[in-house]
Amino acid sequence: PLPVEQAEKIVLNLEALYDHPDADLEHVAKLARSIQQRRGDYNGRILSIRADDLYTLAVVYSTTPSGLIEKLEDFGVLVHDLQAFFASDAE
Ligand code: C2E
Ligand code: C2E
Ligand code: C2E
Repeated sequence: PLPVEQAEKIVLNLEALYDHPDADLEHVAKLARSIQQRRGDYNGRILSIRADDLYTLAVVYSTTPSGLIEKLEDFGVLVHDLQAFFASDAE
């Protein structure tokens, strides 16, 4: 079976991430901005990130990929259900 960090796509909620007041998320926001730039993906409200980049980011936060996912979870910056995420717009 896949390790937990590869079982599901890691999708960031960019609004939640960029608006979050906690300075602890600074490195995540920096990486997301840099990825948007490299992909030319400026208009999205969400960003799918590579498992490889999550691994590197975990090193920055002195944790494991699953530890980082938990942290991002606690900060409320992950999107799990894309359908539900986009459906909530239609209200
Ligand atoms: P690259 O790695 O040579 O990828 C070239 C193109 O292949 C990407 O252009 C994208 O259209 C496609 N591609 C590569 N991997 C994937 C993937 O896992 N899923 C999907 N859906 N498409 C993929 P793009 O997006 O314009 O990115 C240009 C270059 O920017 C990439 O060249 C890479 O060097 C860098 N880049 C983009 N996104 C990331 C990222 O999330 N992490 C890292 N480390 N580099 C990225
Ligand atoms: P998915 O990866 O599950 O993404 C569902 C929707 O979430 C996408 O609909 C898009 O609106 C949004 N989304 C996901 N990741 C990103 C992101 O990094 N940036 C932005 N701006 N939006 C994101 P969309 O574009 O209609 O794509 C539907 C499905 O088509 C995707 O499902 C994926 O399975 C596939 N797909 C789209 N583009 C590519 C591509 O370049 N390469 C590959 N391999 N698959 C793609
Ligand atoms: P995805 O497009 O559904 O791709 C799922 C996995 O398939 C990727 O997980 C990667 O392991 C593999 N894969 C897909 N396309 C390529 C490719 O062109 N080259 C290589 N070497 N592997 C590929 P990964 O890397 O964890 O990425 C997760 C998601 O992040 C991707 O889901 C995609 O939505 C997004 N992503 C990653 N890299 C790029 C990129 O360079 N450009 C864009 N636009 N999206 C990317």
